Amino acid sequence: MTPDIKTMAMDDLTALVESMGQKPYRARQLNRWIYKKLAQSFDDMTDLPKNLRDKLREKARISNLILCNQQMSKDGTRKFLFQLDDGETIESVLIPNNKGAERYTLCISSQAGCALDCRFCVTGTLGFKRNLHTHEIVDQYLSVRRCIEHDEKNGMTAITNIVFMGMGEPLNNLNEVVQALYILTSRIGLSKRKITLSTAGIVPKIYELAKKGPDINLAISLNATTDAVRSLLMPINRKYPLSKLLQACRDFPLAPRRRITFEYILIEGLNDSKEDALRLTKLLSGIRSKVNLIPFNAAIQTVHLVKMSPDYKKSADDRTHDFQNTLLKSGIATSIRKSMGADISAACGQLKAAYTDRQ
Ligand code: SF4
Repeated sequence: MTPDIKTMAMDDLTALVESMGQKPYRARQLNRWIYKKLAQSFDDMTDLPKNLRDKLREKARISNLILCNQQMSKDGTRKFLFQLDDGETIESVLIPNNKGAERYTLCISSQAGCALDCRFCVTGTLGFKRNLHTHEIVDQYLSVRRCIEHDEKNGMTAITNIVFMGMGEPLNNLNEVVQALYILTSRIGLSKRKITLSTAGIVPKIYELAKKGPDINLAISLNATTDAVRSLLMPINRKYPLSKLLQACRDFPLAPRRRITFEYILIEGLNDSKEDALRLTKLLSGIRSKVNLIPFNAAIQTVHLVKMSPDYKKSADDRTHDFQNTLLKSGIATSIRKSMGADISAACGQLKAAYTDRQ
């Protein structure tokens, strides 16, 4: 199969243009067309000689995601449904940052479907379809930028942050994700400090990420303070229990002033007691951490949750604040995350990439 330009390393791109009798700067031009000027075909690259474009078309290709649908939430969150070459579908979510609508965080997917089956997640009920290729991960960023290009040109928008919190477990697709991370940081120029990879806790891969990846931020979807409750919510915990997961966090090399984020969905009566909060402070001791408390989204009624208890609901506001205060008192930075995009099924755990989402 002809190589995809979007997955080629700079050295390979240079070798390709040199094999066509061109100077190395042509590779830099190609890079700029793909990642800065958002070109979708060789024909778009108007400052490359026509004979070079013809040769490139013979030896390489540029794949593009197909945008099937986009929806806008009343809070400004936008959800994008993309189709891949083989017909699988994925979703990406563009979230306005609190500090102003001109800055956005893009939540991207790393797999079509997911094998981990976390009980609070609609993607988990789809099962695993396949890993995304590097270009399919990066292309979510490029395609969304293309969608907001008009506003971007007027200086109204910029995607400043990327979170790997969409469909799939990124560490179960580590090689492609790491390649995508290098493209996002080195070739596109996004700040490593503004990229976060969130995992359900694939312990050996956390160590592998520390060795192979650029030093982006790590987030752990924690959600419980005992193995019994965590295994109930996240079956992966049976394989990698809390003690192993938190040891991997302690061993994770953190750049100065960085912290690991722990995400914690609060479900009333299940994981939101004073004892849970106190246990959490102990579990996180020795880890530079911050905690994001996420009010449970009662609109997510996965088959599993209904079986476990049809009555799960979001913790009452006073319990949520008590939980937060206990953590704050022990010196752990803790915030309560505002749920965004729930009205278009773009909130945490709601992504399902179904055509039925179309309006
Ligand atoms: S929460 Fe993440 S890891 Fe868990 S099932 Fe959903 S997509 Fe997979």
